[in-house]
Amino acid sequence: MADVTLKDIRKTFGVLDVIKGVDLDIKSGEFVVFVGPSGCGKSTLLRMIAGLEDITSGTLEIGGQVMNDVDPSKRGIAMVFQSYALYPHMTVRENMGFALRFAGQDKAEIARRVDAAAKILELGPLMDRKPKALSGGQRQRVAIGRAIVREPDVFLFDEPLSNLDAELRVHMRVEIARLHKELNATIVYVTHDQVEAMTLADKIVVLRAGIVEQVGAPLDLYDDPANLFVAGFIGSPR
Ligand code: ADP
Ligand code: MG
Repeated sequence: MADVTLKDIRKTFGVLDVIKGVDLDIKSGEFVVFVGPSGCGKSTLLRMIAGLEDITSGTLEIGGQVMNDVDPSKRGIAMVFQSYALYPHMTVRENMGFALRFAGQDKAEIARRVDAAAKILELGPLMDRKPKALSGGQRQRVAIGRAIVREPDVFLFDEPLSNLDAELRVHMRVEIARLHKELNATIVYVTHDQVEAMTLADKIVVLRAGIVEQVGAPLDLYDDPANLFVAGFIGSPR
């Protein structure tokens, strides 16, 4: 697992300043949650870490290596999206193994990793099904399984639960917390759901319009918000 360091990261789309200088230290094994209103730049920041967006300026390091221009597949990261984007014509097993097969990993190793992830996520009985025969929560677990088998240093999650109903969201939140413990994973997680942020995070990063308003442990933000925006967002009385 690896540290992730952002130094004065900026992103412009044409004339639009979307990320306006973000500094952040994410420690190995930490569960960091980005929160903030829609359009504040959460996904853009995550996509820059993943290498799905160019970084306009600033430095991104993962595990002490500058990653600005490194191919996404060589950053030691795996991303889980809001839309699970499973391959409809493949079984669960094939979906989970695909990236490894594509990378030329040998069959026995793929089988070992897929079986290990299936066990963690309790997907065993579903391995030969196609995505259309799965519930939303089950698809979600397959999407996480696809990330796990790659054994990344860092997991990136972009609102992975927002397509699930309320009850399932609570269940999956518990699952993700357990996963974090079990894998001792470094996780960067985007949500606009305060409860998700408060319950999952070691550290919350509150974003507003491309700027970090405050970084801290959930209770610290709750007890001592830097300003009214943070107070309003985290839901503390001040
Ligand atoms: P969030 O995930 O916090 O809702 P985003 O990171 O998706 O916010 O978007 C931040 C801002 O950047 C928004 O104003 C959005 O319209 C803009 N934006 C995102 N991607 C692009 C793009 N490819 N081209 C132009 N503007 C974009
Ligand atoms: Mg987003």
